Amino acid sequence: MIIIPERDIAGLVSAADCFMAVEQTFESMARKSARNFPVIREAIGHADALYGFKSGFDRESLALGLKSGGYWPHNAQKGLTNHQSTIFLFDAETGRCRAIVGGNLLTSLRTAAASAVSIEHLARPDSKVLGIVGAGHQSVFQLRAALDQRPFEKVLGWNKTPEKLERLASVAREKGLPFQSVSLEQLCGEADVIITITSSFGPVLAEGMIRPGTHLACMGTDTKGKQEIAAEIVAASTVFTDEVEQSTSIGEAQHAFRLGMIDTAAIVPIGDVIAGGHPGRRDPQEITLFDGTGVGLQDLAVASAAVELALARGTAIEVDA
Ligand code: NAD
Repeated sequence: MIIIPERDIAGLVSAADCFMAVEQTFESMARKSARNFPVIREAIGHADALYGFKSGFDRESLALGLKSGGYWPHNAQKGLTNHQSTIFLFDAETGRCRAIVGGNLLTSLRTAAASAVSIEHLARPDSKVLGIVGAGHQSVFQLRAALDQRPFEKVLGWNKTPEKLERLASVAREKGLPFQSVSLEQLCGEADVIITITSSFGPVLAEGMIRPGTHLACMGTDTKGKQEIAAEIVAASTVFTDEVEQSTSIGEAQHAFRLGMIDTAAIVPIGDVIAGGHPGRRDPQEITLFDGTGVGLQDLAVASAAVELALARGTAIEVDA
C-alpha cells in the first residue's frame, strides 16, 4: 500500500496535472463510464464537526475509492485547516486498499481545476478581464488555475472584507498582472469571466448585474441553502455543471430549480462539452454558467495522479498492508 502524506502533495502535483485529471473525469462521467456514489455528510455531535464521505468509481481509469473528511470549525485556533480530508484508493480488481493520500491541498487543486476546465471550454476566447468574488482559502487556487486558461490582462477582486483581497493581489503581481479591488457593479461591468467562491447563504450577485457574453464559474455553493447569485441569473444563463443531480440539490442551481425557473433537462453536464456531444457556448453574447458542486470522482482522479507521479519519481512511501 502506498502512502502520500499531505506534506508531499505540494511538490508532487501541479495545477496542470489536476486540470488534466479533472477534465478526463468529467468526460468519463458524461460517457457514463464513471459514477459518483451517494454522499454521506453528518454532524457528529462533537467539536461542532461535519464529517462524511464522497466516493465513486471510474471504469475507464479504474479509480475506485473515497474521500473522507469534513469541517472542524475550531481547527484554526489549533493552527490547523478547518477542512480536513484524506483520500483512500482501492484496487478495482481485488478491493485491496491501494493508497492513502492527503486530501487537503488536493481538494483546493481539484476545485480550482473544475472552474479552469469550465473557463477553457466555455469562456469567450477573447476574454481579457477576470473577476473573483470572494477572497477566502480557495480563492487563490481559483485565481492561479484560471490565469492559465486565457491570456487575461487584468484581475478584479471583491470581498466582503476588502483587506483579504491582498492574497489575490499578490498572485496577480507574481503573474505580472494589474489587480484592482472594486465594487461588485464594476467587477460585473468589466469582467469577461467571473468566479464566485464565497460561503454565502444569499445572493451576492443580483439580477441584471451580469453582462451578455460573461462566463460565470459558481464554485462556492456546495451545500443545501448556500447561494452566491440570484436565481434569475441562473435562469437567464446556459447552465453547465459537473453533476446535474448535485447542481439542483446542493449547487447554485438549487434555488432556480426549487422556484421552477430551470428544468434539469436544461442543465448540461460539462463532460458532454468536453466529449464533443454539446457545442458549449454557441454565441459570444450568451451567458454561460458553470455550477461546480464538487464530486468525489474529482478527488479520486487527482489522488490517482498523485500516486502515479510519486511512483514515477520514486518518492512513494510503500508499506505492507
Ligand atoms: P473561506 O471560509 O476561507 O472563505 C469564505 C469566503 O466567503 C470569504 O471570502 C468570505 O468573505 C466570503 N463570504 C462569506 N459569507 C459571505 C456573504 N454573506 N457574502 C459575501 N461573501 C461572503 O472558505 P473557502 O475555503 O475559500 O471556501 C469557499 C466556498 O467554497 C465554501 O462555501 C466552500 O464550502 C466551497 N467549496 C466548494 C468546493 C466545490 O467543489 N465546489 C470545494 C471546496 C470548497
